[in-house]
Amino acid sequence: MESHVKLPPAEVMLRAVEEKDESFEGVFFLGVKTTGIFCRPGCPARQPKPENISFFASASEALVAGFRPCKKCHPLHRLGTIPPDIENLMDEVLEDPSRKWRDYELQQRGLKPDRVRRWFQANHGMTFHAYCRAARVGAAMGRMRSGKSATSTAFESGFDSVSGFNEAFRLITGVSPRQSVSSVMVKIKRVTSPLGILLVGATDEAVVLLEFGDRRMLATQLKTLTKRFSCPVVPGSNSLIEQMEAELTAYFAGDLQTFETPVEFPGTDFQVETWNALRSIPYGETRSYQDIARQLGRENSVRAVANANGANRIAIVIPCHRVIGSDGSLTGYGGGLWRKQRLLELEGALVPEPDLFD
Ligand SMILES: [Zn+2]
Repeated sequence: MESHVKLPPAEVMLRAVEEKDESFEGVFFLGVKTTGIFCRPGCPARQPKPENISFFASASEALVAGFRPCKKCHPLHRLGTIPPDIENLMDEVLEDPSRKWRDYELQQRGLKPDRVRRWFQANHGMTFHAYCRAARVGAAMGRMRSGKSATSTAFESGFDSVSGFNEAFRLITGVSPRQSVSSVMVKIKRVTSPLGILLVGATDEAVVLLEFGDRRMLATQLKTLTKRFSCPVVPGSNSLIEQMEAELTAYFAGDLQTFETPVEFPGTDFQVETWNALRSIPYGETRSYQDIARQLGRENSVRAVANANGANRIAIVIPCHRVIGSDGSLTGYGGGLWRKQRLLELEGALVPEPDLFD
């Protein structure tokens, strides 16, 4: 995504480099002055000294400044953008999830199995085979919802036995095939943004999750989210996720102020009231926790408002970043204070501070 968002503060980027934090993917690139090479934040190569690092908002800026792309982390192939041959492969997997892929079949397509493996690890935090398994389970769930029995679904979906099917199903979704039929299903996708990886989750009716990714891998996240939503969560996409992605791109480009993609945010009565109050804060403005408590007619519930604010699951769209301390301080933000600051700068509610690391 192109954007008008400034780089994070230098100390935040230095920490990200030190921790090889992949959630900063797409946020910045680093050039190492002593070697003349530039990398992505999560590069597995040796740790450069802070004084030798230059930061860039894009790979092209690093190239223009005379740095060469690192051969380990390939900063020119951005994570989150899918190489065409891998995209074709993913389409084939989703078209026929029952198919089992052998290495020589990948080779027949001109794909190196090693590269496929690395790409899926880096972009989905799981192996290609685990991804295929998850797709298989997602398709099986669709079959069962349309009224097929677990037994016929297991075999049609490419599982060798019903027990193998049950086990794979439970492993990925946390529930049994039978339980899954009655519940909704959440699809989840990692998308890149100028502020890092965002996890977008949606049912067929609404977006239910939008949060900045941390370093937990997708496989772990799927289990956590399955618990949180008490319904199966599988990797994938749908038209609402695509709509949200397009809106986010426009938002980060400064071209969109109001999101139209339907969202759903179940919670306690108080949480839902608070989240609705947050949604009424106009783009480009901020409110204090006291303001929100007053608006809700509960002047003594400032702390509860802050808690509900922190429990928001749909970042940006439910603009919890627009709530600040009554003294104007930014206070906390689940995605990190620097992200809150950048969001408010993007919306024009804060004047950007000068770059200290130019
Ligand atoms: Zn590198």
